[in-house]
Parts: sequence; C-alpha cells; structure tokens
Amino acid sequence: MLFCAAFHGQEWITSLILLRFCEEICFCLQKNLRMAEIDLHRGLQGRTLFFVPLINPDGVEIALSGSHTAGRYETLVWQLGGDIPGRWQANARGVDINHNFDAGFSTPCPGMPDAPAPRRYRGGSPESEPETAALCALCRKHRFRHVTALHTQGEEIYWDYGEHTPPQSRMMAEILASASGYAVSSPEGAASFGGFKDWFIDTFHRPGFTFELGRGENPLPLSDMLKIGNQVREMLLLDAIM
Ligand SMILES: [Zn+2]
Repeated sequence: MLFCAAFHGQEWITSLILLRFCEEICFCLQKNLRMAEIDLHRGLQGRTLFFVPLINPDGVEIALSGSHTAGRYETLVWQLGGDIPGRWQANARGVDINHNFDAGFSTPCPGMPDAPAPRRYRGGSPESEPETAALCALCRKHRFRHVTALHTQGEEIYWDYGEHTPPQSRMMAEILASASGYAVSSPEGAASFGGFKDWFIDTFHRPGFTFELGRGENPLPLSDMLKIGNQVREMLLLDAIM
C-alpha cells in the first residue's frame, strides 16, 4: 500500500508525521518491538509499504520560505501572493496538485480559479503537473491494494468517491476512525473531486483515503507534530496492515 503526504504547501507538517511514522516502524522491526500492541513482523508479512512523504516539494518550500525559493516561477508566485503567510497550497506553477487528478476534472465549481492561484486552480488538463503525473505513474506501475493521502486539518477521514468506491471502504474508514477518534466524513464542494484518492478509487476501484490530520488553522504549528503523530500512530498502522 501507499502513504503519501504534503500535497499542499502549507500542510508540510504531514511530511514530518509520515517520516516519523516510517522511522518508528523501522525501529520496531529492527528491535523486534511491538508497535501499538501489534506484532509488526506478523502484521506486515507479505506487505510492501510505499512512502512518498513530500508530493509537492516546491509548494512546501514556498509556504515555508516565500517566493524567492520558486526559481524561474519566482515572479509569478510573488504576484499571486506567495509571500503571504499561510496562503500557499499550490506548486510553483500555481496549480493545486490535489485538484489536478483525472476524477471529475471538468466538474463546474463556482469560485474555483481558472488561472494560476495560491490554491484550488486545477490546471489546464488532468496530470498537467509533473508531481501529479509522477504519482499516477507510480500507482499504475505498482497497483496498490489501497492508498492513503495525508492532509491537514479537521480530524476527519474521507473514503468515498463516486460509483466505483468499493463496498469495504466505509468499514475500513470506520475501523481507522475507531483507532484515532477521527470522524468518518464526505467532503463537499471543490474538495469533493479531482483529488488523489478520488482518482485512485475511480481508476482502480480500490479503497483510497484522505486523512485530515490535526485540528486548528493551517499551517498547523510544528509543536503539534508529536501530539498528532501519537494520536494517529495506531490508525496509520492499522491502515498499513489492513
Ligand atoms: Zn490539503
């Protein structure tokens, strides 16, 4: 299965949470320790876990350090307000990666920008962005059993997209919710199509999840990292072995 994080620039904390989770798994495997009361050697037998902790590296760089990190897109990012704290979600070209997938791509949605923007511009065509294309290529190559995308915030689990959502998805989401206290939800408006989990479900007819980690205002502060990581450890582990 596949875990991936930081589709949105200002959601960089998800990268750190995922890397820490990966590190904990490796540590426990190496030392023969149980993690969240689970025997990892047994639980992960026959499994391969993929981690892509930073889907949108240029967006994260802009969110953290401003437009001067955007290379040849510096002027564009500056004009679009990339130096305003807490604003940047897109990649350096002003395309929102999590709206650039081929899942309801042409769905009319009032309020979504039709040109490069700090957030929610879906791009000229599905997979127009190298980040999107690379992630789709990885999925086509490995045919994951299921995938999970980490975002912030809201303490919610999204699990459905259209008619190809597999019947087991809802129950899996409920098990994951029970391990974390998160809510099982369905997104609305612009967040309800064009995202990675939507595309994965629609393309492979297998489960795809979005976890909205933590609670507060994006970007969540670095000081939330350990707290969120501890709260979702068991959920991520169940997700890995389910
Ligand atoms: Zn997000």
